[in-house]
Amino acid sequence: MPDSHRGETTSGEQNMEQLERAFELLIEGLGLDRSDSHLQDTPRRAAEAWAKELCAGLNGPQFRLTTFPVESEADSSMVALQQIPVKSICAHHLLPILGWATVAYVPNGQLCGLSKLSRVVDHFARRPQVQERLTNQIADFLQTGLHPQGVAVQVKASHMCMELRGVNHTGLMTTSTLRGVFREDTTLREEFMQLANNGK
Ligand SMILES: [Zn+2]
Repeated sequence: MPDSHRGETTSGEQNMEQLERAFELLIEGLGLDRSDSHLQDTPRRAAEAWAKELCAGLNGPQFRLTTFPVESEADSSMVALQQIPVKSICAHHLLPILGWATVAYVPNGQLCGLSKLSRVVDHFARRPQVQERLTNQIADFLQTGLHPQGVAVQVKASHMCMELRGVNHTGLMTTSTLRGVFREDTTLREEFMQLANNGK
């Protein structure tokens, strides 16, 4: 499934040497002494953290969106998961974005494991990101993988680029996207919004 869409491009390669060099330059650029015992191994540690954890989503999905057929009419009601952790990096300042997502869909014959909703969020969050794009990418992925009657995604997050710099204020940014039946059916939309807003 194509990952590079809605303005995001990746070369698909993480260069550990370049990453380490970048952190060496950061330390030097800050005027710090790289021979300080606490900084000696920092470029390697930081490069690993960025490549393998903070940007793990750039390595492609580490899961398969396995689906199974719905067994009864009752299985065609909304499936939702709240309070999914969002741990991301803002593409504009390379500072953390921390929050929660609520993801819901109305099946159209196919269900997926609940934990997969969490994995989809993590996959698109673990990279330099823009919150609006993250929200849409989660919805697009589920739309393509599940062909549901509708998908709804809400993300609420704090941006460290706002809290640690600039205005230096705390605040939650909310983004949401509604597709298919969530757009057409007011009751369903309200049910989702209530779930999402009663989460965190
Ligand atoms: Zn930012």
